[in-house]
Amino acid sequence: MFPVLTEPDFGSNPGGTITKAEKTDGGYILNGAKMWITNGTVADIAVVWAKLDGRVRGFLVEKGTKGYSAPETKGKLSLRASITSELVFEDCFIPDENLLPGSDGLKSPLMCLTQARYGIAWGVIGLANECYSTALDYSLSRIQFGKPIASLQITQEKLAYMQTQITKAQLLCYQLAKT
Ligand SMILES: Cc1cc2nc3c(=O)[nH]c(=O)nc-3n(C[C@H](O)[C@H](O)[C@H](O)COP(=O)(O)OP(=O)(O)OC[C@H]3O[C@@H](n4cnc5c(N)ncnc54)[C@H](O)[C@@H]3O)c2cc1C
Repeated sequence: MFPVLTEPDFGSNPGGTITKAEKTDGGYILNGAKMWITNGTVADIAVVWAKLDGRVRGFLVEKGTKGYSAPETKGKLSLRASITSELVFEDCFIPDENLLPGSDGLKSPLMCLTQARYGIAWGVIGLANECYSTALDYSLSRIQFGKPIASLQITQEKLAYMQTQITKAQLLCYQLAKT
């Protein structure tokens, strides 16, 4: 599963995380909710970011934990190749050993985001390529005034602009991969 960070009220601003852990004998009690979590419904373990004493910490939440549910978000308009889920934590008991010991504060979830955003950047380029190829196919098959609209300079200029922007994005991502 991807990191479990985003909440119904906090997406771009993970510092606002509301999901909360409280210390108890032998572990922690977790309460809160997460949104838009990739593969949440099918995952065996969730790496959940929650606030403990006001600081963001990482907890491993195992499937089957009492009070933990991960219903699938139905009716998505796009990105339907992967499952997206809501995660709900209602007085979930998380044993001491499931706290990630080396992470303390926002740095760790932000490191996850850096990795995830790099992957998303390539994904977006793939979508742009698909848009380009659909536009190209259409302009080759759409006949106006006895010829395909792809033969008109104004259409060619649009297609060339698209391809230039896509190539620029590919080079940017490639450069990012090298740094
Ligand atoms: C298919 C899918 C899978 C996902 N998988 C995961 C996952 O596995 N784990 C996870 O933790 N999250 C996941 N997410 C959530 C994703 O990380 C959030 O959607 C993202 O962080 C944006 O948060 P938000 O949707 O709440 O938008 P908001 O934060 O409400 O932002 C709404 C709009 O405001 C703009 N905006 C916000 N803040 C600023 C600002 N400071 N300056 C300028 N503009 C701003 C944004 O660009 C955006 O256009 C997933 C989302 C989707 C759609």
